[in-house]
Amino acid sequence: MSRPTILLNPGPVTITDRVRNTFLQEDLCHREPDFAELILDIKKRLARVYEDSAEGYQAVLMTGSGTCAVEAMISSLVPKDGKLLVIANGVYGERIAEMAEVHGKNFVLVKAPWPEAMPLEEAERHLQNDPEISHVTAVHNETTTGRLNDMDALGELCVKYEKKLLLDAVSSFAGERIEFKKWNITALASTANKCIHGVPGLCFVLADEREMEKSHSAADSLYLDLFSYYEKQKTGFSPFTQATHVAVALQEALLELEDSGGWQMRMERYRSISVKLRDELDKMGIPRFLQENEYSSMLSSFHLPEGYSYEQLHDKLREAGFVIYAGQGGLFHQIFRIANMGDIRDEDVERLLRTFRQITGAA
Ligand SMILES: *Cc1c(COP(=O)(O)O)cnc(C)c1O
Repeated sequence: MSRPTILLNPGPVTITDRVRNTFLQEDLCHREPDFAELILDIKKRLARVYEDSAEGYQAVLMTGSGTCAVEAMISSLVPKDGKLLVIANGVYGERIAEMAEVHGKNFVLVKAPWPEAMPLEEAERHLQNDPEISHVTAVHNETTTGRLNDMDALGELCVKYEKKLLLDAVSSFAGERIEFKKWNITALASTANKCIHGVPGLCFVLADEREMEKSHSAADSLYLDLFSYYEKQKTGFSPFTQATHVAVALQEALLELEDSGGWQMRMERYRSISVKLRDELDKMGIPRFLQENEYSSMLSSFHLPEGYSYEQLHDKLREAGFVIYAGQGGLFHQIFRIANMGDIRDEDVERLLRTFRQITGAA
């Protein structure tokens, strides 16, 4: 069978036929009990993706892209009398600082240049000297470069200074190790259409139940109030219309994730592909942008090949049936990115490598 265009951007991903076929089912009304049951099932499966969160954490589903979940988390969970320490080393960390600004939060931003690691020493100085800080936020897999941030080190700081961690796990949930207890995670945000292999339209916050039960919402937005969704979704219903078709697909994607061995197997599969891509491209004179051991399992950044602009490279690959991803901001003229989430098969990887060999003249 011929293959569809393979998406090598960091979500939406190329979905499997199993997930695609759910769109052929009957339509659902979001106010009917069968839809509520579906939502309850998805909530349970999301919490169970990691053993650590199966007890004591509740998934809250919202209709929107990943940014929606991150913004609802920041807006609802950082109280007026609290203060947020934002740690950024890429576009997504800096976006959280913008959210804190927009929502009038008391916050402090520590940031590193995008190709660098999180500025943890500077972060610790703030944690030591600023007792007002109540929450810490960071990006697990910084999609800007593909860097997997050192959450073990940051988690240790959160435990040591007793700060609640709000984690952007949009591009890592279901594809990387996540330690809820060890990192002191109060909540994380993610989406249906990255490592879970669903389609775009639904996002979620996985939050500590105790926090949701005892705190009041700090949201200054009606639509992004996590607590109103949390309360209503105890029975599977939501305050507003949810993306019903997307929910059916998400349930199927979660079943597929379970059937294929869960996050560990997915991470291993991702890593075997990304390591191969980085090694093979390096041999063709397309070196990786970061050090090998800095990368997440499913996202790689590369220097642009000699003599190619991003657009030229993109168009060549698009012709061959692959969509790659540009660098953001100042990195546009320097790098390109390849994400290997989704239904990517060995034959796709081989064909991609053949295409690169042709492009670089290494064939
Ligand atoms: C994709 C992504 C987001 C959310 O982006 P959307 O376009 O809103 O889905 C947030 N953080 C990270 C790290 C991401 O990779």
